[in-house]
Amino acid sequence: MHEFDLIREYFTWSSIQGSIVLGVGDDAAICNIEPGYQLATSIDTLISGVHFPDATAAADIAHKALAVNLSDLAAMGAIPKYYTLALTMPEVNKFWLHDFSKSLKQLSEQFGVQLIGGDTTKGSLSITISIIGWMESGKALRRSGAQVGDGIYVSNTIGDAAFALWQLNSNDSPDNSCLNRLNRPMPQVEMGRSLVSIASACIDISDGLEQDLSHILTSSKVGAIIEVDKIPMSPLLTDYVGRDGDYSLVLNGGDDYELCFTVPEKNQVALSRISKHCGAKITQIGVICESGGLEIVGAKNAGKSYQHF
Ligand code: ADP
Ligand code: MG
Repeated sequence: MHEFDLIREYFTWSSIQGSIVLGVGDDAAICNIEPGYQLATSIDTLISGVHFPDATAAADIAHKALAVNLSDLAAMGAIPKYYTLALTMPEVNKFWLHDFSKSLKQLSEQFGVQLIGGDTTKGSLSITISIIGWMESGKALRRSGAQVGDGIYVSNTIGDAAFALWQLNSNDSPDNSCLNRLNRPMPQVEMGRSLVSIASACIDISDGLEQDLSHILTSSKVGAIIEVDKIPMSPLLTDYVGRDGDYSLVLNGGDDYELCFTVPEKNQVALSRISKHCGAKITQIGVICESGGLEIVGAKNAGKSYQHF
């Protein structure tokens, strides 16, 4: 199959809408931007064998590649608008491409984002998505705004994706609910939007709660105390952790794609409304204090979060 036929068949499904003047098919895409808004852009690469096990289904890979990018914009409080896709694959496998394209299209429609261009090359399987979103000028949620006394919160539950990955790597069969958290993360875009003007700092949990919260602390030049007992976990993980008190999957596992954010006391009343509006749990796990790093109360064996190098 010729490269251009492949692009037409599998990656030219986005009709031109809204602010997009020119999408797939020319040397570059063109988009308008409305006055009063800023662009937010982020890029993430998924490499087979590093970011997902080699045997992962094409539909799961596509979902995750877009979801992790949506999650970065969610953490900024931005509205995702469009993305480009750089796809490197060892061969043209029509079944694989069909599943990949279908899943990517599905998640794109769910979040109202459009594929406006990309690059297709031959090599070991690797997927890079670069996403672009909008936000009202000056309103972005940054990592640097946490203040002493702010509450520290996370969305939904933490640790299930890492639990599933750990089981896969131990030749164990993960429960479907955990496997789903690993393969089909749901970015908290609506929550990120709702936290604009409410949260003082925000990050998405991709590399482990301990490491990602530490990024907020470093950027904000503050410390924090969190309690492991308060970290929300699924019943399955609560059961596992309860057996030997090992919180390392919860603290250092990663791949959660939930939000971790800080909220000043005066804004905390808004959180139950936001939780209802987004259909997602919001749980306080600790509080921001003067500098002194991250103190984790109740953890026997906090390890190290994921690092590439
Ligand atoms: P060029 O050689 O000018 O860089 P390409 O031949 O790589 O252009 O791509 C032709 C068009 O197809 C461009 O608009 C590009 O953005 C788009 N494109 C290429 N690969 C993909 C892909 N995997 N997904 C979406 N669009 C793609
Ligand atoms: Mg060109």
